[in-house]
Amino acid sequence: MTVRTRFAPSPTGYLHIGGVRTALFCWLFAKRHKGTFVLRIEDTDRERSTPESIDAILEGLKWMELTPDEGPFYQTDRMDRYGEAIKELLDKGMAYHCYCSKDELEQEREAQRSRGEKPRYSRKCRHNAQIKPDVEPVVRFKNPIDGAVIWDDAVKGRIVIGNSELDDLIICRPDGTPTYNFCVVVDDLDMEITHVVRGDDHVNNTPRQINILRALGGECPVYAHVPMILGADGQRLSKRHGAVSVLEYRNLGILPQAMRNYLVRLGWSHGDQEIFSYEELCSLFSLDGVNRAPAAFDPEKLMWLNQQYIMQADARFLGELLGEQLVLRGVNLADGPPTEKVADVLRERARNIVDMADKSEYFYRDFDEYDENAAKKNLRPVASQLLTDARQQLSELSEWSCEKINSVIESILLQHDVKLGKLAQPIRVAISGTAATPAIDVTLELIGKERVVQRLDHAIKFILDRVAKST
Ligand code: GLU
Repeated sequence: MTVRTRFAPSPTGYLHIGGVRTALFCWLFAKRHKGTFVLRIEDTDRERSTPESIDAILEGLKWMELTPDEGPFYQTDRMDRYGEAIKELLDKGMAYHCYCSKDELEQEREAQRSRGEKPRYSRKCRHNAQIKPDVEPVVRFKNPIDGAVIWDDAVKGRIVIGNSELDDLIICRPDGTPTYNFCVVVDDLDMEITHVVRGDDHVNNTPRQINILRALGGECPVYAHVPMILGADGQRLSKRHGAVSVLEYRNLGILPQAMRNYLVRLGWSHGDQEIFSYEELCSLFSLDGVNRAPAAFDPEKLMWLNQQYIMQADARFLGELLGEQLVLRGVNLADGPPTEKVADVLRERARNIVDMADKSEYFYRDFDEYDENAAKKNLRPVASQLLTDARQQLSELSEWSCEKINSVIESILLQHDVKLGKLAQPIRVAISGTAATPAIDVTLELIGKERVVQRLDHAIKFILDRVAKST
């Protein structure tokens, strides 16, 4: 059997990270079994579906590299097919027209409630429909009356639901549009889906869908209902807890690989291992490893993983991401060193790409002010001679390389008989405005001679001005 999975989002908002995790599980399961991952956009709710939301889904999946092998298919393109399937059920006597009005149904439910019964449709039209020529009927599915729907959920284990619990579901509205549960079944059938992996908020739909699927002559796929993602307070993860749209995480500077690793571990485990390469995930992922209990989203752990991935990432890739962030801030990349090199020296200090961009602006543009504390501590009169000598010797270098820069630094340390920090800290503040930069030699090399000299001049003047003011 060739495995076929599908991700079937409704495009009614942003792409929630819970949805992305479902997509990831579907994608990984398909990869693991050399199968096919299908993307289906469930856009039949025309009022709530928007093109912006479709774009957000496609962009989010692209960012996470969850490329569909087939699709996207749009349910709105398949209306004729749903119409055919409804007709098929009507012809086979497995569905019927129902003329009951909203008022009648409401009265019926009211009466059931007052008798303490669970409200449900009386199935009046199933047995004895009275055709009303001026009423457009709905179509209802003839749910089996007896027996039970049983399936072995790949995550939750065996689930048994008595048919007595299930109503005769409306599958077609008076205006001829098919309903949600019906479209899902026809699609899963036509798209030959073998494994339905989805959030467990859909568990209640499953017995209804299985009954319809069987009526259409289909075989049950494997169902795997994945527990929801919770916030730290144990409630279902929502906007209240912070960022929930996957693209927000991209904008926060998370690497897609880190997000993928984080989400897969949030609900799936393989021993105690935390970090998985792409290849490992594709060969290890299994539905057996999906936890039954819901997991809580932990932004700190995501950041930690992100940092691990930043440490390992290819410098070119990091450089591209850093470049994108800097351009968003109006930085002209041509005004500084290759972003690949800056990313490489900053990777140990950055938790995410936004943080990295914050720490790298001084490579590309001049700054107006020094960090107040850093200046107070390091741009003091004692530093002025050190900075003046450094400025002099650095400006005389004919070759601007780490090695040469280091030899200048060494010689000044000897000359003044001071430790590295006494010189490096004032230089750091002078060239970056802050007291924290990567190693001083690489930082100077990357900033470039002309800028370094200018910035040292500026810092020396800053010290002298302060001295002048205070006397
Ligand atoms: N369209 C549904 C949703 O976005 C998913 C349906 C399914 O996976 O069966 O929640």
